[in-house]
Amino acid sequence: MTRREREITDPNEINRILDTCKYLHLGLVDEGKPYVVPMNYGIDHDADGHLIVYLHGANTGRKLDIIRKNSDCCFTMECNITPFEGKIACQYGVAYECVMGTGQIHLIDDPAEKDRALQAIMKTQTGQDHFTFDERMVSIVSVMRIDVDELSAKHRPLPAALSEGE
Ligand SMILES: Cc1cc2nc3c(=O)[nH]c(=O)nc-3n(C[C@H](O)[C@H](O)[C@H](O)COP(=O)(O)OP(=O)(O)OC[C@H]3O[C@@H](n4cnc5c(N)ncnc54)[C@H](O)[C@@H]3O)c2cc1C
Repeated sequence: MTRREREITDPNEINRILDTCKYLHLGLVDEGKPYVVPMNYGIDHDADGHLIVYLHGANTGRKLDIIRKNSDCCFTMECNITPFEGKIACQYGVAYECVMGTGQIHLIDDPAEKDRALQAIMKTQTGQDHFTFDERMVSIVSVMRIDVDELSAKHRPLPAALSEGE
């Protein structure tokens, strides 16, 4: 990362950002060309503590066609976006928190894991975990799982003069 002072390495901070963002931009490779699609997501961890990102959607469409051919993926997500002003153009900017990752994405067929994924999505999206899904609800959606292999996080705080003035 070129601006090292903006890197976030604290796992608790990273988890907070993962919980806050609500949607990500999923990057896929379609016959050598990039395809980026915004999607809501849910966060989970496997038994070894590795990050899993779950996605869900319709049972047809371009992203599914791509995923079946090429499991390489990347994603970015951002939250707490606050544009700020300055006296001259280059003092304008935007405060943000952001996570970026790469991994392998696969379609999940096992109904038990699909159920777990939908629970994770609802938990991340709403902060609540009381949702239940019947067999039909599970069967009519496709569920995708990203096994994350690299993750970085970055933030840009508001300039000190502005945050002091709040
Ligand atoms: C904030 C947000 C959250 C979303 N959350 C989800 C989610 O959780 N699950 C989900 O399945 N979908 C979600 N969507 C919709 C998603 O972005 C896609 O439109 C949808 O998943 C269909 O993707 P597809 O590859 O199957 O496209 P297809 O329906 O196969 O369409 C193919 C073509 O349509 C165009 N297209 C597709 N999507 C978009 C788009 N979003 N904007 C502009 N052009 C587009 C592109 O040209 C693409 O090549 C979300 C969208 C937004 C903005």
